[in-house]
Amino acid sequence: MPEQSYYLGVDIGTTSTKAVLFDRAGKVITGDTVFYALETPNPLIAEQDPEEIFRAVLTSVRKTIRKSEIDTKQLKLVSFSSAMHSLIAVDAEGSLLTQSITWADTRSAKHAKYIKERLNGHEIYLRTGTPIHAMSPLAKLVWLKDEKPKVFEQAAKFIGIKEFVFHELFGTYVVDHSIASATGLFNLEQLDWDREALAVAGITPEHLSHPVPTTHQLTGLVTEHALFMGIPENVPFIIGASDGVLANLGVDAIEPGVLAVTIGTSGAIRTVTTEPKTDPKGRTFCYALTENHWVVGGPVNNGGIILRWLRDEFASSEVETAKRLGIDPYDVLTKIADTVNPGADGLLFHPYLTGERAPLWDANARGSFFGLSIHHKKQHMIRAVLEGIVFNLYTVLLAVEELIGEPVRIQASGGFARSDMWRQLLADVFDKPVVIPESFESSCLGAVVLGMYAIGEIDDFSIVSDMIGQTHTHEPQEASAGIYRELLPIYIRLSRLLTAEYESIADFQRKHLE
Ligand code: ADP
Repeated sequence: MPEQSYYLGVDIGTTSTKAVLFDRAGKVITGDTVFYALETPNPLIAEQDPEEIFRAVLTSVRKTIRKSEIDTKQLKLVSFSSAMHSLIAVDAEGSLLTQSITWADTRSAKHAKYIKERLNGHEIYLRTGTPIHAMSPLAKLVWLKDEKPKVFEQAAKFIGIKEFVFHELFGTYVVDHSIASATGLFNLEQLDWDREALAVAGITPEHLSHPVPTTHQLTGLVTEHALFMGIPENVPFIIGASDGVLANLGVDAIEPGVLAVTIGTSGAIRTVTTEPKTDPKGRTFCYALTENHWVVGGPVNNGGIILRWLRDEFASSEVETAKRLGIDPYDVLTKIADTVNPGADGLLFHPYLTGERAPLWDANARGSFFGLSIHHKKQHMIRAVLEGIVFNLYTVLLAVEELIGEPVRIQASGGFARSDMWRQLLADVFDKPVVIPESFESSCLGAVVLGMYAIGEIDDFSIVSDMIGQTHTHEPQEASAGIYRELLPIYIRLSRLLTAEYESIADFQRKHLE
């Protein structure tokens, strides 16, 4: 029997770090998750402790290796995925001057607006692929310079969380092209820092890490850390990419025409193109997977979090019923929604309860039901909420389609995929077949496949289709798709018409509620 090989994927996320060990066939051997806090002392701040995250990386790897009981000589690589857009200021000794300011931190919203309107922001977006928004490290740097000038002055480097982890492990500051492409500072064509973006941020390339391809390998781990994790010092560490683009790889959505749709707490749609592509209207992102694979798409704030809100605020009797029957309350809600006609008999819902990123990029956007009439019942409202979340994702696709054409198939993932009804709804609204891959740790799997490619074990990514398995396939039903085609134009026109009113009502809320 040939000797078995093992591959470890590590995903540094916003709520936890996961380590997952795979064999060559993509089978999960074992894994471990270490959770940590996201500090949100007020609604604008969302920070994390980089040291705590580094310890989570070490611990999740150590526990995974222990549980697996493998011979670590058979461990071929460790490859990394990480959340995008974090910013940490460190001094010349590498000491922390700030926490890790995450993508969810919106303190730089005003600065983002200023960059967009006054500092040639749209041109910078067109070259760097990151929408000008509070999530972007570019906006965070301008905010830091303005609001905390002493920290800004003292900083020798501005890095992201993965760079912090790699610096601890190997003593060097490197950033992969993928994480770099999500900073708003990286020129996608030149694969280097963008001079104008750096000037806007008030920094030089020396303030940033050295950019390397996502296949870049490092060896020679700091001995103490290798010992703690229980792995040999010479195991290649592949720097990897961001969680978003690796999820595309990990659900096998890397061929042209395949769309990855995720609906978890938030949501996203993403598809791969061979060259960087940005949107003249600024609605989509473009991030690197490799030099030949670029991921175009849009993130939405309002995914499954809206169903959670509905469950918690309006569905106490359904939650009780679910408890009595010993089933998940979400299953009760989606079953109730299924008793109503597609289109909820003409009831529309805009899910912008937390403002919205793509496609509106408007923090002031707010939710609304539209079309309510006396015949509508609670079940219509539940269905309209589920449909509204999917309609919103569909409007992101319309922007993506303008750049790279119509998709043929959807690979979907996230908590929504537990519901048969919601999966079918996705197929009907998008009017495309939907496939649900079996693998649920898609970013870790993506990291591992990228790692295999980096060490020359595979020549392309085609192996992934055999590694993922598949659990469900849904074909669109024409009758429902036709109804959605009628309703979507109204849904889209309405949110355009409301733009000015979104601002008025958000201003009112800020004035009276905060
Ligand atoms: P995260 O994005 O935080 O990793 P998940 O991918 O698990 O979270 O998604 C959580 C969301 O998935 C919930 O907010 C809910 O809207 C949805 N969800 C979870 N279970 C079900 C279910 N059985 N039916 C429908 N939706 C579900």
